Amino acid sequence: MSAYVIRHDWSYEEAYALYHQPFMDLVWQSQQIHRAVFTPNSIQVCTLQNIKVGGCPEDCHWCGQSIYHSTGVENEPLADLDEVIQSAKDAKANGASRYCLAASWRGPTDRNLNKVIEMVKAIKALGLETCITLGKLRPEQAQALKEAGLDYYNHNLETSENHFKKVSTTRSFSDRLTTLQYVREAGMKVCSGGILGMGETEKDRIELLITLANQPEHPQSVPINQLVRIEGTPLENEAPMDDLSFVRAVALARILMPKAYVRLSGGRRQMSKTMQTLCFMAGANSIHHGPKLLVTQNADMSEDKVLLQELGLTPEPAQLSTASSCSSHTIPLVVKA
Ligand code: SF4
Repeated sequence: MSAYVIRHDWSYEEAYALYHQPFMDLVWQSQQIHRAVFTPNSIQVCTLQNIKVGGCPEDCHWCGQSIYHSTGVENEPLADLDEVIQSAKDAKANGASRYCLAASWRGPTDRNLNKVIEMVKAIKALGLETCITLGKLRPEQAQALKEAGLDYYNHNLETSENHFKKVSTTRSFSDRLTTLQYVREAGMKVCSGGILGMGETEKDRIELLITLANQPEHPQSVPINQLVRIEGTPLENEAPMDDLSFVRAVALARILMPKAYVRLSGGRRQMSKTMQTLCFMAGANSIHHGPKLLVTQNADMSEDKVLLQELGLTPEPAQLSTASSCSSHTIPLVVKA
């Protein structure tokens, strides 16, 4: 019998029971699923570049880029193409197989979208998978991104529907689901996850993962962030999250969405090596590797190199969704001291 099932009808009771089984049983189950789907001891390495910093008109309580919060982050113009290409080359040299772009917009204007499309094409030409997060999309914008060869569109649900309105009043949860629908309908892969530690309950965390898993298709990437408490945001004094609860959530994501890349993203800098290792045991198989994550410091790049070597984890090659002259290559994780 297969170690896993692909389902889109998970009930809260089922997910709760999985989450609350004895810790060793939970991690054993999620690791078995991970090994049934993915190459053991392989890890996806992604790098994120913030191409439009600050000045965001939304009020997300965790975010350092919102105009509503006094975080000292300045509103900057869109990065230029040459800068993005150079950063993507650096990321590839440092072992990345996926290059992600983020812009602090409610949604892109068509003019800005055209500029981003040029960036996507240039990154693809380097043999990297591409992912971008630009906010809300219209269907024709999703289609234009698909035609440009974009592999993934990131749009996190962030938390449960119930908790969402407590941490973002200018955005709606249903709008987020609609954008994910447009991305799927355009034929792109979905990257969608959330942030844990924003004052949500355990029920909210389980519901977030159920909502993701019960989409018509599972997101192909599921970033699980731990809140980085940014000074000047409404969540700056939020209590740190319990480590084992975080690992349980990672394991549940792996069980509910067996084929998704489950990514340790924001908050990894504040995790010990042991904590990250537990998350990998629970089925996380992707990291963001690079100096910064949006406006916060990421985990130290040379420490990443040491950790992956200690664990015997090998970065996996890019898997491009459209034809490319560079569709398969092995990338060493080279990290500058
Ligand atoms: S999370 Fe995104 S949408 Fe929300 S304030 Fe930050 S940049 Fe804007």
